[in-house]
Parts: sequence; C-alpha cells; structure tokens
Amino acid sequence: MTQLQRIAIAPSQLQASQIILTPQQLHYLVRVLRLREGDRFIAMDGLGKWWLAQLTGEQAQVLETLSVETELPVSITLMVALPKGSGFDEVVRCCTELGVTCIAPVISDRTLLNPSPQKLERWRRIAAEAAEQSERAFVPTILEPVAFSESLSTVNGQKYICEARGNYPQLLNCLPNKAQITNDQALIIATGPEGGWTEKEVEIAIASGFQPVSLGRRILRAVTAPIVALSIVTATCEV
Ligand code: SAM
Repeated sequence: MTQLQRIAIAPSQLQASQIILTPQQLHYLVRVLRLREGDRFIAMDGLGKWWLAQLTGEQAQVLETLSVETELPVSITLMVALPKGSGFDEVVRCCTELGVTCIAPVISDRTLLNPSPQKLERWRRIAAEAAEQSERAFVPTILEPVAFSESLSTVNGQKYICEARGNYPQLLNCLPNKAQITNDQALIIATGPEGGWTEKEVEIAIASGFQPVSLGRRILRAVTAPIVALSIVTATCEV
C-alpha cells in the first residue's frame, strides 16, 4: 500500500463512494503521475481519513477505508516567533514531518519579518504537502500570525518556553513520560526569533504558566530550535 501515490482531497469531494476530482487533481494523477483507468491511489482528507481509490473516467471510486497509525499520542502546538527570510517554510515542513498538531506563528518584540497574507497560504500548502509525503493522517493547522503577548492566553495544556541562555532544565526532563501521556493531553512549546525573547516576554510567559526550558548547551538557530524541540517530544512519546 505504501507504494501507492497519495493525494489530498477536501472532505466535500467524497460523495457516496465517488471522489469528485478537481481538474488540477485529475491533471496531476493522469499527466504527472501517469495513472491510467483502473489504477489505484490513496486519497486523504487531512482530517484523519484515508481511502483506497481507483481512477474511473474523470472521477475515482472508493474501494475501501484505510486505517492510518502515524500520529503522535499527544497534541503538540508550536508557538514559533517568525524567523526572517523563508526560514518558516522549513519549520513548517520539518515539524509537519515530525508530527506537530498546530503551528502558531507569533510576532515577538524582536521579530524582523512582517508576513504577507500570501505567506499563510504558502505555509498551509507546505504543511499539506509534507503531511502527504510523511503519510500523516492529519494536516497540521497553521494559525494566522498574532502578537506573542496575545497568543499566550489562547493556549491550554502543559506549556514550555525555550530559552537559549540561563540555567534552565532540559525540555527532555520536563515532559511527561510515555506512561503519563494520554491522547487528550496538549503540549505547547514556544521558541524565539534570531535575537531571542526579551526578558519581559519570558516574564509574561512564565506568568501565563509557561515553564522555561533548555534544548541543550549550544545556541540553535531560530529555525533549528522548534525542530529540535519537536524531535525531543517525539522521541519521548514513541520510544
Ligand atoms: N540571540 C539569542 C542569544 O544569543 O541568546 C539566541 C536566540 S536563538 C538563535 C533563537 C531561539 O531559539 C531562542 O529564542 C530560543 O527560543 C531557541 N533556542 C536556541 N537555542 C536554544 C537552546 N540551547 N535552548 C533553548 N532554546 C534555544
């Protein structure tokens, strides 16, 4: 089954047991992937459902529902202060591959990027492609960028803020262990921009229930830090 090509569809495209393909999807399947009448592929709705489908004319017939078990046993929201340039593309791509549930781009006091509305669309497209590529059942949610101070009150769960300097415990030692992790548990991890968080930002985060943590003794780039944080969580949940 893993060799089959996968495409993302909107839930509304599934009608009875037919998938109503868009002209772009049909073009991709027939012209790009060179699928022929009767060939099989996997359709995924990004909301946890996968189907084995067969190309029939300009539509596809659903043959069976597939079960996918590639998701982490815990919900993880990353609050990432937008790095400059196109660094956030890499964060979205890698963190989607690693299993993130939601990415909240935040604008901190030292954020240098002022994202255009087209950026959000681009990040969502990257998340969908990466979810497809890494065989995720869900496409992570990418929220609209908001000020860091505003975003603090919108999240619930066990909250961590990564600080590059200071004598803070390793994230690894602060996470619930595998036996304590449950499906309805939420972890929130915040990482700062190139210039780091300001003292005031760390203070208000702590006042909002965030625990300051370290990701190790080296200073990581703003793009690397969220990827490392997520890798630590996935290793803790899955080993
Ligand atoms: N300019 C800051 C300095 O010199 O202290 C470093 C900022 S670092 C490039 C960007 C962000 O990545 C930080 O705000 C922090 O959230 C995260 N980060 C980088 N290295 C880290 C580490 N070793 N432990 C925890 N967080 C780290």
